[in-house]
Amino acid sequence: MDEAKLTSLRTRFADREVFTDGEDPVLVAAGRQVQSPDGRRSLPYSGIPTLLGMPAAASAAGLDIALVGVPMDLGVSNRPGARFGPRAIRSIERIGPYHPTFRGVPKSSVRAADIGDVPFRSRYSLEQSLEDIEHFYAGLKAGGVRPLSAGGDHSITYPILQALGKGAPVGLVHIDAHCDTMGAYDGSKFHHGGPFRLAVLDGVLDPERTIQIGIRGSSNMYWEFSHASGMTVIYMEDFMRLGVDAVAEMARKVVGDGPVYVSVDVDGFDPAYAPGTGTPEAGGLEAREGLALLRALGGLNVVGADVVEVAPQYDPTTNTSQLAAQLLFEEFALMTLGRRS
Ligand code: MN
Ligand code: MN
Repeated sequence: MDEAKLTSLRTRFADREVFTDGEDPVLVAAGRQVQSPDGRRSLPYSGIPTLLGMPAAASAAGLDIALVGVPMDLGVSNRPGARFGPRAIRSIERIGPYHPTFRGVPKSSVRAADIGDVPFRSRYSLEQSLEDIEHFYAGLKAGGVRPLSAGGDHSITYPILQALGKGAPVGLVHIDAHCDTMGAYDGSKFHHGGPFRLAVLDGVLDPERTIQIGIRGSSNMYWEFSHASGMTVIYMEDFMRLGVDAVAEMARKVVGDGPVYVSVDVDGFDPAYAPGTGTPEAGGLEAREGLALLRALGGLNVVGADVVEVAPQYDPTTNTSQLAAQLLFEEFALMTLGRRS
């Protein structure tokens, strides 16, 4: 090794503890967010767990973005457990704060906090719980606060869209193994297999500005509404043929410049990456494909987002929650640094 180079490296790095004098000003600024001037970093495994390690707040007052837990799974059609999703996602450490694609620290550009969970009147009533969610999110919208949510099963997205799309329907980027546009059965239309049909019929979701990605399994007979209403449906076979970049380009084209909601069902991912979910389907997205897809959506007007269907008890590895927390961070990045201003 060249002696002069070694001397130079020793001079520059041997005693440097604090990350303050790097070459890249963006990375220096990010470093200052995670390390104190005296060279200390907070313990990732310590303190009260919150979504993405954000500060906890008692209310959404004064916030731009509220992170919200929605621990409700009364809409599941098979294995229950997504009510434990918010807690499982809160327990994940070391997500962010720096985002490599949008080159910055999302939380430093907005006022954001974890405001806890939607309060429910009864653990026994699906219909009443959906009303509680709509009421809660209507309050956020009235306060000019954009929600970023951790579910819960996918039935929670219907009342969220009712609140956010009232008066001006939103577009949708939807990652899922299932279109979730089926009708009523067993006496209920409010199950987790139908939120997007209900939202369209309520006039709060624009089907022509909706794209559904990763669809597979044996439920195609239930997705007539998606096609009849004009949604763009990217089946898993299409995704494999087209690839991440082309699908991202289609998504941008479909949702356009208007307000967009992003909803990610972890069962859109292969059960190898997300076994902790109620209705797994083999042959899904790889984690890296889903992350790349979301990172290619910068510049949209994202008014809210969620990650749903994490049922941690089916995954002793915690990989599902790890992926879900990362997806939540990607959505947070889209709502901040990656947002069209
Ligand atoms: Mn779903
Ligand atoms: Mn699904």
